[in-house]
Amino acid sequence: MNLEVLTVGTELLLGHTIDTNAAELGRALAAAGVQIVRRTTVPDRAAAIRDAVAEALDRTGAVLTTGGLGPTRDDMTKRVVAELLQRPLELDPVALEALEARFKRLGRWPMPAVNRSQAEVPRGATVLPNPRGTAPGLWLEDPAADRLVIMLPGVPSEMRGLLVEEVLPRLMARQQRAGGGGGGESAQPRVVLSRTLRTTGLPESALAERIGPEEEALAPLTLAYLPSETGVDLRLTAWGLERGEAERRLAAGLERLRGSLGAHCYGEEQTDLAAVVLEAVRRRRGHLAVAESCTGGLLGERLTAVPGASDVFVGGVVAYADRIKSELLGVPEDVLAQHGAVSEETVRAMVVGAQRAFLADCAAAVTGIAGPDGGTPEKPVGTVWLAAAAGANIRVVQRIFPGDRGEIRARGAQAGLDLLRRLLLEP
Ligand code: AMP
Ligand code: MG
Repeated sequence: MNLEVLTVGTELLLGHTIDTNAAELGRALAAAGVQIVRRTTVPDRAAAIRDAVAEALDRTGAVLTTGGLGPTRDDMTKRVVAELLQRPLELDPVALEALEARFKRLGRWPMPAVNRSQAEVPRGATVLPNPRGTAPGLWLEDPAADRLVIMLPGVPSEMRGLLVEEVLPRLMARQQRAGGGGGGESAQPRVVLSRTLRTTGLPESALAERIGPEEEALAPLTLAYLPSETGVDLRLTAWGLERGEAERRLAAGLERLRGSLGAHCYGEEQTDLAAVVLEAVRRRRGHLAVAESCTGGLLGERLTAVPGASDVFVGGVVAYADRIKSELLGVPEDVLAQHGAVSEETVRAMVVGAQRAFLADCAAAVTGIAGPDGGTPEKPVGTVWLAAAAGANIRVVQRIFPGDRGEIRARGAQAGLDLLRRLLLEP
């Protein structure tokens, strides 16, 4: 089944409110096998809402709106849709009763007159009760013309509740009816399923070169590259297959991708790189310490955010000033003088110093120039030296990260964790 999503609200266009409803609808509907084929946002203006609903119905035949169901003048979705579909608004006694009961329960009695309008519904609409708020959802179907309008309130918690409790079950039933047809063996419901592989250390373009050749073999699955400052997630999606078939194909596709990604892939779904590193150290019954300059504690933060980190992570030092690098980590003063605080020699001494100071067999160290000032032609802003140590095994790399100060620091922490992860993968 295809559906369009229309989010209504001037605040969404102004960027004052982030359109979380659209994102949430995307996830929930996809998982239920409904394809969102287009998403639109319009301001709280009658003409804009009317045009958007009319176009969606002409194009796709089904539209789900959120927002504009409140009692005030700027809430006009219901009135506009009723007009468009030529259904007069009528007071729904059950909806009115629920509304009045809510106001009584909350001690706001008598109910303000404006709220009465929230119990008015387009003729023939199904009222979707909303126990979390005043505006019920509305399900308006025109079977003759095969058109469907679903209206939900804008408040995210109310939208979510109605979606899960009222809308998804109805959409599933509608799909079963459409697919199952004339009885007998009912067809398996079709689903949209996604699986994600997480990668870090390779930019999107380099990843695409590496796995591009696989894409054809992955069909009919689609592959999406989702870059962020900590890496690129690869999301594989099966559209409109039966669940068993979708799961089989996704498993095979994931296997294929993992094969060509090798060590660049560190996990699936929501896996956190810090948790992967902790687990790798745990497996060798080791302990982990960090020494950080430009990341200022982000490495320690990432590691300690993982539940159960304490059996592996022993501590770290934010060695910002040169004096701290030499006094607490034993970085020789002549190394700092000769090569500078952002150098291969310094980061190597930092990681060894962390191993020694914290009596840990494993360590990671980061030193770099996060900007916006402090760059030079030889060491531009974004230059970061990273080191990882596992016993006597030490790796040192330099990276030049794009982005602002926050991004460079976040990328530095991620890269420090990743360097150690890769070192621990080696036999
Ligand atoms: P409304 O139903 O249009 O009166 O919206 C009520 C409140 O819900 C607004 O003030 C917003 O804070 C919030 N809201 C409306 N639409 C969205 C949306 N698409 N995503 C997230 N929040 C929303
Ligand atoms: Mg609104």
